[in-house]
Amino acid sequence: MAWYPGATKYELQPESDSQPAIRPTQFIMHSIIAPWTAKRVYEYWRDSTNLESHFGLGYEGDLGQFIGTETRADANYQANRRADGTGAVSIETASNLQGSDPWTPEQVEELIKLGVWLHQKHGIPLRICRTWDDPGFGYHRLHEEWAVSGTSCPGDARVTQFREVVFPGIVARAGGQTVPAPKPPAPPARPVVDLSRLVAAARTDPPRSGTPVSYPGVRTVEDALVKEGLLARGLADGHFGTATRTAYAAWQRRLRYSGADADGIPGRASLAKLGAKHGFTITD
Ligand SMILES: [Zn+2]
Repeated sequence: MAWYPGATKYELQPESDSQPAIRPTQFIMHSIIAPWTAKRVYEYWRDSTNLESHFGLGYEGDLGQFIGTETRADANYQANRRADGTGAVSIETASNLQGSDPWTPEQVEELIKLGVWLHQKHGIPLRICRTWDDPGFGYHRLHEEWAVSGTSCPGDARVTQFREVVFPGIVARAGGQTVPAPKPPAPPARPVVDLSRLVAAARTDPPRSGTPVSYPGVRTVEDALVKEGLLARGLADGHFGTATRTAYAAWQRRLRYSGADADGIPGRASLAKLGAKHGFTITD
């Protein structure tokens, strides 16, 4: 069990002793849809329901802890405790009855400090949970697996604060780097095949003596020959051996070369045509 030194301890029984252990990997923030103090949240969990969160936070920044952070609490549905023993730490925060108001500056400050402690104490990583079971920080409605039948908790104002103030504040205060939003993947760089290195590899493999010249461009050319239907996929192995040479000769014949011009050793014109069709450029 772990108790945050910055919170008033209002231990909730029997839950605190009877619920299973978790290894906390997530921190999930909620609005409780009531303008309650931390103590009033505790009384509600104690007297009115068998649900609970780990923490409660009033408008004035009063913070209470009801369950140790290494014990399951019931605020986040499938994130409460997973089959691998990991789970989420949860906080309910005072809000208006519509859940539409922003956190007060005092609440923001306490959320940041608690987030830093959870990072340091439990190693919760400084990122926003990318999936429902991904370690990190989040808010209730971020992943549908965190609510029994959907939720609008917390409201838009607090989601914006989470992304713009609270989470960046945790990262900055914890001394970490701000984790940038994932960028769309860059288009793959167009491979470049060096003609002279390719030819050197083709002339030494299979090796007459010693080891063949190894060159990554061989694989680029082989992949193109596979797409042309001239080389079996399993024979594209990065070595310009007999199979590759036979396939390249077929490509040359397809371009109406013959004789020594179709010997399977790449030349500039045939390689340029293959590259133009299959997305690589050539150099020498
Ligand atoms: Zn919630």
